[in-house]
Amino acid sequence: MERQTHKTGGAAVLVGASLSGLMGALSLSRIGMTVTMLERSDGKARAGAALPVSEGLLQRLTGRSLGQHALPSGPQAWADVYAALRAVVDADPNIRVRAPARVKFVDQDEHSAWAVTDNAEVVRGDIVVGADGHASIVRCHVAPEQPDAVFAGYLIWLGIVDESEVRAQPWPDQLAILEERGYCLNAYYLPGADGSLVRGHRRLGFGWYDAGRNDLLRSSGVLVGDVVQRTLRPADIPDATFRDLAAEAKAIWPAPWREAIRDCLSRRAVIGTPIGEYMPQRLARGRVCLVGDAAHVPSPMTGKGFDASALDALALAEALHDGLAHGGAAEALRHYEAKRLAAARELVRSGCGFSQSFGPHQAS
Ligand SMILES: Cc1cc2nc3c(=O)[nH]c(=O)nc-3n(C[C@H](O)[C@H](O)[C@H](O)COP(=O)(O)OP(=O)(O)OC[C@H]3O[C@@H](n4cnc5c(N)ncnc54)[C@H](O)[C@@H]3O)c2cc1C
Repeated sequence: MERQTHKTGGAAVLVGASLSGLMGALSLSRIGMTVTMLERSDGKARAGAALPVSEGLLQRLTGRSLGQHALPSGPQAWADVYAALRAVVDADPNIRVRAPARVKFVDQDEHSAWAVTDNAEVVRGDIVVGADGHASIVRCHVAPEQPDAVFAGYLIWLGIVDESEVRAQPWPDQLAILEERGYCLNAYYLPGADGSLVRGHRRLGFGWYDAGRNDLLRSSGVLVGDVVQRTLRPADIPDATFRDLAAEAKAIWPAPWREAIRDCLSRRAVIGTPIGEYMPQRLARGRVCLVGDAAHVPSPMTGKGFDASALDALALAEALHDGLAHGGAAEALRHYEAKRLAAARELVRSGCGFSQSFGPHQAS
């Protein structure tokens, strides 16, 4: 959205202050809304997952030039993207982040929408935006007939290591996508903690797709029925699984990824994220809408979940900017849904082929 002729005004309540929430808050602040963010967790630490940051993203979200260094484009570590967005949000007087604040449910009437926290506080606005991820509570309000993402049949082992720790010849700079013995490996270089892309100073990240450990997901309670509850943390992973993974990595993956994976395993700096998928039928209901993984969960193999979340944030602000003062909040959110639903469905569909072919128990 290039033009900004008037300030929309109004108040938004955003549930979830991770990447989609932060991007949504910045784009709504840009059109003049005040934003209250409610986030259940008060700390952030995540391994792995490289995210593709598009050119000028922060400028498009905020409408201001914050300089290239604020959020460089290209593949970036999740933690670096989070830190960059969070710093801009914290400096924005229109946005307030409240954490820890766990939302139990959301509701609405014809005048407003509100979120109720687990200590019974009611936080009210003109709209409520669910940016609360794959297991969204806000989705239960928007799409009660289809509230859950469905387990896709596999998990991803994620890790990240400094290149200086890996004594092996570097791979050519591009993303590696390797398939072997029923496994799939995505491996990539990320800037070093200081932002450096110089060889020897970068980081190596990997996502190892594994459909052979679904029993562990069930026995640890990470997967209940077809619904993912959470990520496998190092403490959930038995010693024998660490040993098996290290042996398999040694046998099947080439250098330098083999060394990177084994280094992470030896430090127990690996998490296992069970993958769910969610094909949306709707993105809004009245004054309540969804963005990011709350709205659509594609297989990470698409590599597009983050970019889609950014497009949601921009489209939401555009719909509200054009519509809040004229047709009202519900009408504006209908426009948001009309702009984003088909693309969101196509994105999820694009990952389903991989999930079906990879499927459970393919690994041998
Ligand atoms: C393993 C993996 C690999 C990925 N790889 C890629 C990739 O290569 N490329 C790409 O583009 N995308 C990738 N993605 C997707 C991308 O990470 C997400 O699309 C993006 O980060 C947006 O996530 P989100 O903010 O919508 O949800 P989340 O990151 O899940 O954040 C949701 C937030 O809401 C909070 N919350 C949840 N419930 C409540 C509640 N009741 N009350 C208050 N707060 C709540 C949570 O604490 C959390 O902070 C990957 C995802 C995964 C899981």
